[in-house]
Amino acid sequence: MMLCFGSVGLVLLALDMQKGHGNPDSAVWNRMETSERNYYTRYHNMTEISEWMEVMERENPDVVSSMIYGQTYEKRNITLLKIGLSSPERKKAIWMDCGIHAREWIAPAFCQYFVNELLRMYKTDTKVHKMMKNLDFFITPVVNVDGYTYSWLNESTRLWRKSRSPGPDGCTCYGTDLNRNFNANWGTIGVSTDCCEEEYGGTKASSEPETQAVTDMLDEMSQDLLAFITIHCFGQFIIFPYGNPNTLPPNYNELMAVGLGAANAIKAVHGMRYTVISPDILYPASGLSQDYARQIGIPLSFTFELRDTDEYGFILPEDLIQPTCEEAYVGVQHIISYAHDKAFYSSAAAVTTTLWTTLMAVWVSSATLL
Ligand SMILES: [Zn+2]
Repeated sequence: MMLCFGSVGLVLLALDMQKGHGNPDSAVWNRMETSERNYYTRYHNMTEISEWMEVMERENPDVVSSMIYGQTYEKRNITLLKIGLSSPERKKAIWMDCGIHAREWIAPAFCQYFVNELLRMYKTDTKVHKMMKNLDFFITPVVNVDGYTYSWLNESTRLWRKSRSPGPDGCTCYGTDLNRNFNANWGTIGVSTDCCEEEYGGTKASSEPETQAVTDMLDEMSQDLLAFITIHCFGQFIIFPYGNPNTLPPNYNELMAVGLGAANAIKAVHGMRYTVISPDILYPASGLSQDYARQIGIPLSFTFELRDTDEYGFILPEDLIQPTCEEAYVGVQHIISYAHDKAFYSSAAAVTTTLWTTLMAVWVSSATLL
């Protein structure tokens, strides 16, 4: 069977994906349909995403490389794609991760879409080309590989959220909420100590190998990272630090302004409204990856909650993948473009001021809707 990646003109031999009925990755629903439709309008299981990462690297050897930077509890690899034009100088970087919560399938679908768009656009779009020259994009399509794989097992596991590590002694439940497990105000608010709950934060900060892997990478790259973006669903929010109601990031105004710019850009695509907010107002939470990223000095840190609001929730139909990704791409690129211009153009201060002036009116009207 062949899969056509129309927009990059590549063809992937996907025979392996159809093999092995004992493999939970390949036994679900009617995978044959995949061959007849565009790859980026479908959800893909972990085996398919791993194959896709190999294809991206193979088809774009000058700009794409992959890196395994950790292993899950069940010993699966956690892999990122590094995307950028080679440069003799040390480059700045952008971090994006998807699939930290297993059931949020639109998130890995977005990471795949984003990579494809980046690789398509940089050849013709001068701004994207410039960003590919000045920046490296570090993109992890699926952080919670065990959980994501489990969510594809059957319909009863479809809504699994957490990792797949066993609970502590005396608890028969599985899994830690990886986005409550980071070493940022860990275990204090908006988190559960009951290992059977959806928001169980683990036995200690970074108790989970997946959390530790991301933490190690961020620590290593913190001097170079201009922005940290983590993709979730649902609710249509752009969220920025902190989850702790008693702490404000030093660049709160900048985060708000840039987030509002992203929301405006999203609205212009299909008219969807995204609310910009920090979680201390929406729902206080601790151990968040976005908070950890900001705490270690990454200036722009955002969580995207993609479509929808509450009609389909986590089971977003496949025909909504494309519009969701189209608008989110523009929103994310707004943030990255701002980060890039601030770092590489001497008029950075002017950029900030202009943004603020333009967006103040929007901020006032948005705030009344919260
Ligand atoms: Zn989530």
